[in-house]
Amino acid sequence: MTATLIDGVAIAGQIYGQLKLRAVALRERGVRPGLAAIMIGNNPASEVYLRNKTRACSEVGVHSELHRFGAACAESEVLELIHRLNADASIHGILVQLPLPLQFDTDRILHAVDAAKDVDGFSWQNLGALVAGQPQLCPCTPLGVMAMLDSVGLALDGIHAVVIGRSVTVGKPMALMLIARGATVTVCNSKTRNLQGHTSRADLVVVAVGKPGVVNGSMLKPGAVVIDVGINRLPDGKLAGDVDFASASQVASRITPVPGGVGRMTVAMLIANTVTAAEGAVATG
Ligand code: NAP
Repeated sequence: MTATLIDGVAIAGQIYGQLKLRAVALRERGVRPGLAAIMIGNNPASEVYLRNKTRACSEVGVHSELHRFGAACAESEVLELIHRLNADASIHGILVQLPLPLQFDTDRILHAVDAAKDVDGFSWQNLGALVAGQPQLCPCTPLGVMAMLDSVGLALDGIHAVVIGRSVTVGKPMALMLIARGATVTVCNSKTRNLQGHTSRADLVVVAVGKPGVVNGSMLKPGAVVIDVGINRLPDGKLAGDVDFASASQVASRITPVPGGVGRMTVAMLIANTVTAAEGAVATG
């Protein structure tokens, strides 16, 4: 079998089209969605992500602004800015670019963001809402995976899904979203014995580990759908996912590429969350 690609660029493009219409509707009510990004220190990968996010904002008609701090700045300066942005009616989404320099308490910074503006969906309030089955602003990467699965029409109820990785930002919320849609979900981690024993029985495998080749074709059930969340920089400078694409694409029915897969959807969902937050602000006056 040679898998069909699930094209993150094309699906994100369709989502941007829908978001533009929602942004126009907001503009007609006198509101331009606004996203504030906070960048602390210097991280080349973060710079790339921020450029992509800024470009996506301008494509959709979302105001974006970037607040930069040196790596040696005081945590109180960042907290002061977050409190100011929380109170700023023209800003609907606040994004703190991770990772932060080591001396920062990441939890304290993230939880200073008003949950209604937490477009990364990392606050305990938003994560708790997801656990309770009342999702509000959800983490962008798993949300993007769900949008990809919906766009290819994969029926999720009753399927066996294996999520590899249990991070708070990807693996855990991914599992919760699949559970909410009726999938039977197994979550694997670095301690899992016999990973292949799980993946080989799965209709859907979502891999969010950060290790190239952790899943290959021999570990998959024929016809499985494979979503590769991983982004790894190889020694030759190229980007690769966590899945050995060459062998997996011979066994899977559908598979996401890296680059051009989940990463595109993560950015699209950030903008979607910002538009949703702006709509929420309009609705609550
Ligand atoms: P993370 O916080 O480091 O979590 C990695 C998870 O993988 C952990 O739960 C770890 O288990 C598990 N793991 C490690 N080795 C394993 C193994 N051999 N078998 C099974 N599980 C194993 O990473 P993350 O933030 O979730 O990100 C994961 C990957 O996705 C990274 O490559 C990251 O760059 C990428 N990513 C991509 C996007 C995107 O937009 N495409 C967004 C976010 C992240 P333990 O908990 O037991 O340590």
